[in-house]
Amino acid sequence: MTAKNTLQTLIDQTKETAVLQSIEELLNWDQRTQMPAKAANYRAEQITLLSGMIHQRTVDPRRGQYLTELAEEVSSQSDHDGDVIVLRLLKQYEKEKKIPLRLVEEFSKARVMAHQAWVDARKANRFSDFAPHLETIVKLLREKTDAIGFQESAYDVLLDDYEPNTKSSDVASVFSALKADLVPLISEIGESSCRPDSSIIRRPFPIADQQTFGTSAAKAIGFDFEAGRLDITHHPFCCTVGPKDCRITTRYDKNYFNSAFFGILHEAGHGLYEQGLRADQFGLPTGEYCSLGIHESQSRLWENMVGRSKSFWKHFFPLAQNSFPQALANVPLDHFFGAVNDVKPSLIRVEADEATYSLHVIIRFELEQALFTGDLQVNDLPAAWNQKYQQALGIHPDSDSNGVLQDVHWSEGLFGYFPTYALGNLYAAQFFDSAANAIGDLDLQIAKGEFVPLLNWLRSNVHQKGKSLSASDILQSATGESLSHQPMMTYLREKYAEIYSL
Ligand code: ZN
Repeated sequence: MTAKNTLQTLIDQTKETAVLQSIEELLNWDQRTQMPAKAANYRAEQITLLSGMIHQRTVDPRRGQYLTELAEEVSSQSDHDGDVIVLRLLKQYEKEKKIPLRLVEEFSKARVMAHQAWVDARKANRFSDFAPHLETIVKLLREKTDAIGFQESAYDVLLDDYEPNTKSSDVASVFSALKADLVPLISEIGESSCRPDSSIIRRPFPIADQQTFGTSAAKAIGFDFEAGRLDITHHPFCCTVGPKDCRITTRYDKNYFNSAFFGILHEAGHGLYEQGLRADQFGLPTGEYCSLGIHESQSRLWENMVGRSKSFWKHFFPLAQNSFPQALANVPLDHFFGAVNDVKPSLIRVEADEATYSLHVIIRFELEQALFTGDLQVNDLPAAWNQKYQQALGIHPDSDSNGVLQDVHWSEGLFGYFPTYALGNLYAAQFFDSAANAIGDLDLQIAKGEFVPLLNWLRSNVHQKGKSLSASDILQSATGESLSHQPMMTYLREKYAEIYSL
């Protein structure tokens, strides 16, 4: 075969695997939004069969052979589609090849056990029931990082699964600078005598009206409902079933505005990224999201930098008052703006406000690192957790369930995942700044409900790049800067200065 034919064969096979993956996604979406409870066992059979087929195709030795042959002709600096595809797929193939099958099987069994143990331990509020399972997970992940190999730290290997080519030492230094600036900002806010009236957003908001209002906002920022859907679920997510088929979900609380509305903007932000990827490259690295951090930057940008801005509500607040006359008719815009931006240290990450959120993430990142350097033992995790919450947020978890046991991630073996949430915040602020500089009157446009110029900027500077650049290269090419916590801090300071008269 000529190199050109080999590349085409490889692309065809990879795209075919993507078809199988998209069927698996559809089954997952259905399971989380529509499936009747009694269908769970057969659904597990469907998914197990499909995952097995997908795995076999990915580790097929012929594929490895094609990739190795093609890689010999490719320069690692190239950004040509074909070269990007070969390099990214080869990296993934070689990584997977190094993990022994025994370890893959042991790990997937351990995850199932650990997840169930976590559910039970959380209910019983007893970390010690979960600890032995977590020890197994950490032990198996250590074996995995040893099998793959690393230069600086084992944690880099874990991080690479979610934020490729990112060094944890770089993340650590930006995070500690961020923490050093966030902690005093949050206590300044706590000491301020100005307090937004947060009861405004905890009034009756009829669910049908929330649905209509949230959908119209998602449409207004550019989410294409002819290539996507919005449904209801317990744990909101965004998933892509195909190049023109992005599914977002939310949950409604009839007495709380923020949960569904900002949830929809968040997931629609993820959805805009997915809808902005190159459709003809679906299933290939050139048409795939860059990293979880970049993905999260898109959701956070629309949820917070746009959706929690004064400009956004200049346009949307009169519409909200029409939709929810009972709750909002007599509320001034400024009061509403304060209420949706209220800052208060709390125990639960997923309920945290924009300012404290990153601290929840940094705490988890520090603990994960300590577990993998061996500085921290699993049994000492609850005490270390509580101490860090006390130091960073000035609060002490009342139970393990509201502390160290609150997140599902560790029970599923997802170590190295948390930092991408806070990286998303940092990238978002950097992108937003650059977009504002390039566009000029961004605030004015947002206040008029015009989002096309911002979306177009994101399309060409972030979405269309797919995985052809690493996260740090996308950041560099879009903003001219490397990762920094400064834009995020400037943005937060400016917003809270107004609300809390800092
Ligand atoms: Zn997200």
